[in-house]
Amino acid sequence: ATPMSLTTGVGKGAENGILIRSGEALQVAQKLNTIVLDKTGTITEGKPSLTDIVSLGKYSKTDLLKFSASIEKGSEHPLATAIMDNAEKKKIPLAKVTGFNAIPGHGVEGIVEDKRIYFGNLKLMKKEGIPLNGFNKYASSMADEGKTPMFMAIDGEAAGIIAVADTVKEDSLSVIQELEKMGLEVVMITGDNQRTAQAIAKQVGIKRVLADVLPQDKAENVRKLQAEGKKVAMVGDGINDAPALTQADVGIAIGTGTDVAIEASDITLISGSLKGVVSAIKISRATMKNVY
Ligand code: ADP
Ligand code: MG
Repeated sequence: ATPMSLTTGVGKGAENGILIRSGEALQVAQKLNTIVLDKTGTITEGKPSLTDIVSLGKYSKTDLLKFSASIEKGSEHPLATAIMDNAEKKKIPLAKVTGFNAIPGHGVEGIVEDKRIYFGNLKLMKKEGIPLNGFNKYASSMADEGKTPMFMAIDGEAAGIIAVADTVKEDSLSVIQELEKMGLEVVMITGDNQRTAQAIAKQVGIKRVLADVLPQDKAENVRKLQAEGKKVAMVGDGINDAPALTQADVGIAIGTGTDVAIEASDITLISGSLKGVVSAIKISRATMKNVY
């Protein structure tokens, strides 16, 4: 492509709400054959809400919600917001927390009313050696519906499960179908568990899923695809996604996401929609053929 057509391509992008940082990104985008999409906030709205509270022992649902919301106050995770919003709606007063700690890719911990509480995924329960005594089946059935279940352990025992659900963006399915028609393989990547990830992937027609990926391992997963000879675009919105956005041949940030993701990317889609991924690749292909 000529410098002139690259400038035109970048301009075309801007007209369509796609900020292309460099002519180089535009040149690389037409060589892509793999699109890795983050799940939460990229394929889904990223605004989960609470759906289920299951008590597994002596603590009531209200206790479980109070404990989880109190601890999640210290977290900035979208899952934390979902729990706190629900507690606020039900006017449940929060308790004082000491020893708060966020465990990336696992959950949170803290001491509330003299009780040591862990709240997070199955990996966290395993790490802390909490026996689940068959309770996992409740979580599995919620996960199969695309919900994200979180376990609560109180003083070493499983006490409850709280699940949240996030909505798939209305045009995720059509965009993913279009990307496949354009000859691109679409892959989902997420820190969420395998069952929940598969359920969401099914709703949007994605066949290849990388789930249970720790925040620090997202970039490594992109690198592995590149080692298979793939030209990879990573699309994401979170702080967690930044290293993978940098590692990818083309990093694409959702404009409604975090500044960290935007700064790590080559292309920013101003709106929350994934349609911009299709447009960006079409503009790149047209630019390289000097169509403009
Ligand atoms: P993602 O950004 O894809 O949700 P994360 O690595 O942030 O991935 O989280 C992976 C999983 O770890 C979540 O699905 C959840 O089960 C658990 N988790 C992370 N943060 C929290 C939190 N603040 N509260 C409860 N669970 C959490
Ligand atoms: Mg995300």
